[in-house]
Amino acid sequence: MELIAVQDSFERVAKRRKLSSSKSQEIIIQVVYEIEQALLRIQSSSDSIVADVDQKTVLAELKAKLHVVCSHAHLEGPLQDTELTRCQKVLEKVLHPDISMACVDADFDRHVINQIIIRHFYSEALFDIVDCLVKEAGEDEAISLRLQYQELHEILEALKSRDLGPASKWISANQDRLRESGLDLELKLHKLQFVDLLQGKGRSSALKYARTYLAPLASRHMDAIQRLLCSVLWAERLDRSPYADLADPSNWGSFAEDVTRAFCSFAGRSIRDPLTVALAAGMEGLPTLLKLANVMAANKQEWEAMKQLPVPLELGREFHFHPIFVCPVSRDQCSEENPPMLLPCGHVLCQLSIDKLSKAGTRNFKCPNCPHGASLSQCKQLCF
Ligand SMILES: [Zn+2]
Repeated sequence: MELIAVQDSFERVAKRRKLSSSKSQEIIIQVVYEIEQALLRIQSSSDSIVADVDQKTVLAELKAKLHVVCSHAHLEGPLQDTELTRCQKVLEKVLHPDISMACVDADFDRHVINQIIIRHFYSEALFDIVDCLVKEAGEDEAISLRLQYQELHEILEALKSRDLGPASKWISANQDRLRESGLDLELKLHKLQFVDLLQGKGRSSALKYARTYLAPLASRHMDAIQRLLCSVLWAERLDRSPYADLADPSNWGSFAEDVTRAFCSFAGRSIRDPLTVALAAGMEGLPTLLKLANVMAANKQEWEAMKQLPVPLELGREFHFHPIFVCPVSRDQCSEENPPMLLPCGHVLCQLSIDKLSKAGTRNFKCPNCPHGASLSQCKQLCF
């Protein structure tokens, strides 16, 4: 509630500043106009024998005019908004600026942390920083990743300027793997190039390209190729035709995403940089952690000594990775010997819990999470 009030205050202050800025602009324009007019009058009367008198009059008039303009306009100095000062106080109260309260001295593996930071800088293409970090932290093996990240970076940079060369080279080199994975980057690449040629150089260039590069794909992608060829009829106004989707500039962004996803998958790494994910998850969980820390401090409980959070911390679905599964009944982490099992109601328990509940499959049992019944034979093993 308080945050909504803060937002309103900010909007009001922003509106006031905008108004004050446009008012100042108007005054400046008027001042410049008055000065220019005065100059013109002085110049035009400079040949006159009574020029001196005229100049004095003009200047006096100008002074009077400027005085009126400025005094009416209430030219403001730097805005000292008491409203902003109040907002700052509310924000400090609501947003707990002292986040150190929720910190725990964790025993991090320095090598793993270095690797995560190095990968982050690589994915941001900050190669100089990585070189320095690798040297100082003695993480020499990270250098082997450099070529990989550089290659991806070159592909993506080229795509930004609509150059498909590096992407085409990488796709050709990984053709077999891409086909095995069911990824049709080859067709997407040729579609982009075809449309780019059609819009940039015209029909004949596009058709020539189609004969060379699209014809070999005809057996697998006849429909898509027919559509591309039909679009030639609308070459001059493709964006207002039934084929407008082909000319959508966002196709380039989505192709870059597809290439990145395939590239990362082949390199055995996540498309999302671990440091960014960890930071985002931390920011989302921080308000709850701070509340918990406050409650525990009020109850004289030791935050630092806590081994496990007393309540589950819910994060958004984008932070659900499922590398491990912990049975909600036994609290055991599932393994190959004790795999996760899906009940007919959709809930998941570990094999051992189901064995216990069903007395080794000799009776039906109720799901511990909902009132649905189940039998051992109805449960299916889940593979993550
Ligand atoms: Zn259930």
